[in-house]
Amino acid sequence: MNTENEKLNIYADWNPWHGCTKISPGCKYCYVYRQDEMYGSSVASSVCRKTQAFNLPVKRKRDKSYKIPSGKIVFTCFTSDFLLKDADQWREECWQMMKERSDLLFYFFTKRIDRLEECLPADWGEGYDNVLIGCTVENQAMADYRLPIFLKLPIKHKSIIVSPIIERVDISEYLTDEIEEVAVGGESGVEARLCDFEWILFLREQCVAKDIPFRFHQTGARFVKDGKIYRIPRGYQLVQAAKANIDYKIGDYFMPEKYAKLSENIIRENSD
Ligand code: SF4
Repeated sequence: MNTENEKLNIYADWNPWHGCTKISPGCKYCYVYRQDEMYGSSVASSVCRKTQAFNLPVKRKRDKSYKIPSGKIVFTCFTSDFLLKDADQWREECWQMMKERSDLLFYFFTKRIDRLEECLPADWGEGYDNVLIGCTVENQAMADYRLPIFLKLPIKHKSIIVSPIIERVDISEYLTDEIEEVAVGGESGVEARLCDFEWILFLREQCVAKDIPFRFHQTGARFVKDGKIYRIPRGYQLVQAAKANIDYKIGDYFMPEKYAKLSENIIRENSD
């Protein structure tokens, strides 16, 4: 069994650009806007700009080894949307870096899956083996719009992210064999909309019926259980979700067993 630190040690973050424009109801209280406000950013959150970490995956240390070691699952573009139009000019270089670092797994979530096709690199083919894409949906309308598009796209690793969940959502008709994980979470922030535990259990039921890994990531700030509303402080939202103990087929690293194994294989291959 891995320790908590070992579990977290498998991850790295890469935010090549920062800032995003709101596109659907789930964006209403976007955490990027909330964080910028908290830190008193002088640039509007809607203005997308390249960050100093732009080429982090290919940056090397003094001893010439990569700054991000082999085998990491790299959460990509979590302070923006990787498929944002304003970032079109920079994305090609990012695809190239992902290709160069085939020893890492890049994982990005997007609310703009309808733009993926026009954003893909020429050599994408059926998808890069080391790129995991999560299609984010927050309500039934977005699920019914985005998921049919998502299912048709050539992507090697597909997951569905229901976050922030703002109503009861039925995604059962989109849970095909290709879907490797469904993760769900409530909304954070002072003005967060309610997240009802019954909606979470309904999604879990859909996943279990199709034998698809399911993860309850976080409760959100205003959590409803048995009709009662609970205010959950930020620091407890992950913990409370974990305490519910309802994840299904999730491995040691808070990931589907398949992703953890991919990462372990990469580490093994690169240490030979
Ligand atoms: S797409 Fe994501 S990052 Fe962009 S505004 Fe919406 S919630 Fe924020």
